[in-house]
Amino acid sequence: MRLVVNPIACDAFGYCAELAPELIHLDEWGYPVINREVTRGLIPLAQEVISACPRRALSLRDD
Ligand code: SF4
Repeated sequence: MRLVVNPIACDAFGYCAELAPELIHLDEWGYPVINREVTRGLIPLAQEVISACPRRALSLRDD
């Protein structure tokens, strides 16, 4: 599975990268970049960070 970011909704505040550094780092403008595939063991963390995003800019996609 893959975590995806809607760059239009995202405010680039970076909360997600603080919450889930295993999955997300920030680019030079503060926008999230997804580090890796969401393996089964990382799904709960991905769901947590999706719920915590104040702009609802993150979602999980099945490739
Ligand atoms: S928490 Fe949501 S709005 Fe904030 S940087 Fe991450 S994806 Fe963007």
